[in-house]
Amino acid sequence: MHVPDTVDPDAIGSDAIDLAPLEIDSAADVDDRPTCRFLTFGCKINQYDTQALRESILELGYRELVGEQAADLVIVNACTVTDRAGEKGVNAVRRLQERGLAGRVLVTGCLSPEDRDACRKLGVEFVVGNEEKDQIPALVEGAELRSVGPRVSDRRRSRSIFDLKTSRFARRTRAFIKVHDGCDDFCSYCIIPFVRGKSKSRGIDEVMAEARRLAENGFRELVITGIHLRRYGADLGLEGGVMMLMRALRSVPGIERVRLSSIGIKVFTDEFLEFIASDDAYCEFFHIPLQSGSATVLERMRREYTSESFLESVAQIRSVLPRAVITTDLMVGFPGETDDEFRESLETCAAARFAFLHIFPYSVRTGTKAAALPSRVPGTVKVERVARARELERTLRENESRRWQSQRVRVLVERVRDGWANGLCREGHQVFFDVSSLPNRDELRHLELDVVITGAATEGRQRTTGPVRLEGELTDAQ
Ligand code: SF4
Repeated sequence: MHVPDTVDPDAIGSDAIDLAPLEIDSAADVDDRPTCRFLTFGCKINQYDTQALRESILELGYRELVGEQAADLVIVNACTVTDRAGEKGVNAVRRLQERGLAGRVLVTGCLSPEDRDACRKLGVEFVVGNEEKDQIPALVEGAELRSVGPRVSDRRRSRSIFDLKTSRFARRTRAFIKVHDGCDDFCSYCIIPFVRGKSKSRGIDEVMAEARRLAENGFRELVITGIHLRRYGADLGLEGGVMMLMRALRSVPGIERVRLSSIGIKVFTDEFLEFIASDDAYCEFFHIPLQSGSATVLERMRREYTSESFLESVAQIRSVLPRAVITTDLMVGFPGETDDEFRESLETCAAARFAFLHIFPYSVRTGTKAAALPSRVPGTVKVERVARARELERTLRENESRRWQSQRVRVLVERVRDGWANGLCREGHQVFFDVSSLPNRDELRHLELDVVITGAATEGRQRTTGPVRLEGELTDAQ
C-alpha cells in the first residue's frame, strides 16, 4: 500500500507536498493568462499524477503560481489512504475558500465516498475520480477556464488512465515514471482497489517513449512507480514484466540508473535478484511493505506472505546483494492487534534490519473488510505503540548509518547549496558532502560522484523522520 511520503509544510495544505513547478511566476509577473495552483497529498503515484496534470494544464495556456496567491484554478490531488489523509484534502479546500484564494477548485485523486460528499457540501465544482483523471485537461478546457486560443486536446477522446504523461520534474535529477495503477488484491484494510480500480499496466512502448523524453530533458535516473509494481505486465500477458521493463528502461540513451519505488516481497525470486546484481544501473534500494510482522495479523490483513516467508526473502536479498538497503511500511493498531502480536511485529522489523520504517496507525476505511472487524485498538494504545515503533526505528536508522561508515558510494548530485552538494546514492540514502573547495561546483548537478561515507548527517541535515541521511567526502579520484 502506498502511504503518504515526506510532507512539506504549506500554509494552505498543511501536509500538501510542494512539487516544484516547471514555471514559477511571481505576483509581479502579470500577464493575461489564467492562473493555476496544485496541491498534492499522498504517495509517489499522486506526485507523478500531479506532474502529468501540471504539464497538460500548462499546455492549455495556464501559468502556475506558488505560495499564498489567488489562482483561477486550484487542483487538489487528494489521498484517502487514511481517514486523516482524506480530511487533509478537504480541509485544504475549505481554507482556500475561506481565504478567497481559489476561483474554481477541482478535486481529484483517491477519494472515498465520504471525501466526495464533503467536497460536494463545500460546493467544489469538479470532483474527478482517479480513473477519469486523464479527462481533466478536457474538463478544464471545456469549462472555459482558459483565455488562449482554442486547441483541441487528443486527451479529450482518450480513455486511458496513462494518457497523462510527464517530461520534466523541476529541481530533480531523477524522474518518476508511472507504469501501473489499480489493484485486485483487496488487502482487508486497503481502500486502494475501491478508489483506483482494477490492476492495469502501461504498455512498454508507451513507457519507453516517456523515458526517452525524460532522458532528453537531462534525467539520468528513472524511478519506476506503480500501485502494485509486482503485478506489472500480468494484464498484458507479460511474464517477468518488471524485469522486462527495467531492462528496456536501462537501454534508453542517457539513463544510467533505474530504481524501483515500493514493490511486493514476492518479486524477489533468485532470477530477479541475479538480474539486479547483473548491472550496477539497477539500484539496490527496495521499499518492501511489510505492514505487520505478526503472522496472525498478516492473515487478518489478507497479505500474500507470512512473517516467516518475508524474513526468508529478506535473507535471500542480503545474501545476493549485501549492500542492499531495505525499508518498509509498518501499520500499527490493526483491529484485534494484541500486545503479543505488536511485539512480534517489532521483532520481525528488527530481524529484517530495515533501514527505515514508515510507521502509521491503522485507520478505518469504510467499505473495506477490516472496517467490519471487531476489537478496534483504542487510540491511546495506538499512540503508545507508534511511539515504541519509532524508538525501534531510531535504532535501526543508527545501525544503518554505522553500516555505511567508510563505504564508498556513487552519488547523483541533485543540489548544490552553501558549499555542500547532496543527492541519492544508488542504495537510496541521501548523502551530503562538502564541495566548497571545488571551482566548478555549480556544474556538479546531474553528475555522479564517488563519495566515502564519514557518518550520519549532522543535526541540521538530519530529519527526525524519512530515510537515512549520511555525510561523506569526495574521493581523491575526482
Ligand atoms: S490492496 Fe493490498 S496490494 Fe493492493 S494497493 Fe492495497 S495494500 Fe497494496
